[in-house]
Amino acid sequence: MNDNRPVRVRFAPSPTGPLHMGGVRTALYNYLFARQHGGTFLLRIEDTDSHRFVPGAEAYIIESLRWCGIEIDEGVDVGGPHAPYRQSERREIYLEYAERLVENGWAYYAFDTPEELEAIRKSCEARGETFAYNYAVRTRLATSLALPAEEVKARIARGDQWTIRFRMPEDERIEMDDMIRGHVSVNSSTLDDKVLYKSADGLPTYHLANIVDDSLMEITHVIRGEEWLPSLPLHVMLYRAFGWEDRMPRFAHLPLLLKPTGGGKLSKRDGDKLGFPVFPLQWTPPEGGEGARGYREDGYFPEAFVNLLALLGWNPGNDHSELLSMQEMTELFSLEKVSKSGARFDPEKARWFNAQYLHRKSDAELAALFLPVLAEKGFGEVPVAKVERIMGLVKERATFIGDLWPLAAYFFEAPQTYDPKAVAKFWRDDNPEHLQNLRRQLEKVEDFTARNIEAEAHAWIEAQGVPMGKVMNTLRIALVGSSTGANLFEIMELIGREEFLRRVERAHEVLD
Ligand code: GLU
Repeated sequence: MNDNRPVRVRFAPSPTGPLHMGGVRTALYNYLFARQHGGTFLLRIEDTDSHRFVPGAEAYIIESLRWCGIEIDEGVDVGGPHAPYRQSERREIYLEYAERLVENGWAYYAFDTPEELEAIRKSCEARGETFAYNYAVRTRLATSLALPAEEVKARIARGDQWTIRFRMPEDERIEMDDMIRGHVSVNSSTLDDKVLYKSADGLPTYHLANIVDDSLMEITHVIRGEEWLPSLPLHVMLYRAFGWEDRMPRFAHLPLLLKPTGGGKLSKRDGDKLGFPVFPLQWTPPEGGEGARGYREDGYFPEAFVNLLALLGWNPGNDHSELLSMQEMTELFSLEKVSKSGARFDPEKARWFNAQYLHRKSDAELAALFLPVLAEKGFGEVPVAKVERIMGLVKERATFIGDLWPLAAYFFEAPQTYDPKAVAKFWRDDNPEHLQNLRRQLEKVEDFTARNIEAEAHAWIEAQGVPMGKVMNTLRIALVGSSTGANLFEIMELIGREEFLRRVERAHEVLD
């Protein structure tokens, strides 16, 4: 293992559907690690399993990374010195490597058809045994280890289907180091002889293509999901078999993302049940059928999504805020601080992150995001300065941009309805009459600003000795339609004297 090489990491998804948020986290950790070490982040598409290929999935992956601000340095979509980066376009590379392993005794040809293997499996089951293609059986099956060399040649020549299988040694300790899990070891006899290459489609399996490409692409660190940990012994053995131990990357297997309840892997069904997305972007299956919602379309800011995702499994320590920019995460990230145990996903916390990012946006930024919504509602002409002020008044109560219209609508249009509960509570006794009198008073305020209106309202209420809270809530019903909303005097200034008078009058018409 040579640690002096410049850091090169890869995200190597298979295009089998939309990218799960766990996959995005894997990409993100790779990216942070690369950036921190001044290294290179590659995107390689592992599409050698033609049965699981889904059109559109690759474009989805690329768009997801882009939305998250994860920049690809090298790979699919951007190119680079090791192009192509799509394994289906590299297919002629792999056979030679598989054959090399046959030549040096680390692999062999196997001629059993899927039907024959199925039959063997069944008869084993009938005897209460589980079948494993391994050291115990490989010299007794239709393999190049059992058949005469002539026959092997003849079978290949006449076009019989074959696979190349790895010859996993018997009873050997395989020692491995994982940057998160530490030292791991396993006895090779517990492992079977995995298929590396199939003549049927002329394609390598994941294991062969992955190792060959990591080696050719000079990958120094493999950071991937925990589900690949069981493949690690085979991968380590493949590096040995190729004589590439000096360029074997270091490995880090990331913990699973767990359901909100903690038990088991976070799935789309959990999201559907509890109302949150498990994918970065909305997904529409190309062949029709059920799609899936995405964080982007649900109104999350990419910065918030990336932030919350980074902290699922990694904790920079108590001295740091939970709100971290990509730059801060790049500085603080460390694989050693990634936890070994699964990270429970909390949808409430996810929303909290988005709210924090929204609250930290300036009024001008929020106005820019809100203007299209306003235009859609028919208020495209409202001056930007006014919209900015309104943003400042309502943003603390918003989690998403989509919350802004319901929170701010009364600044733009008179209430269409009045909340019956608020009406029952406040539009009673002498309150409507007090409101009439207050309106007459406020109407006269010359410079109709929040400050002036407030001073006048307070002076009048005090002089009259009427209950402040009740009168104000009655006024609020008239202006907002409920007993919630921003500071009343600010509302009055922003809607203006005429609209103030109209709304009070109308409330009396409807509610008295
Ligand atoms: N193609 C594998 C996947 O879909 C890559 C695993 C790895 O990173 O080695 O996750």
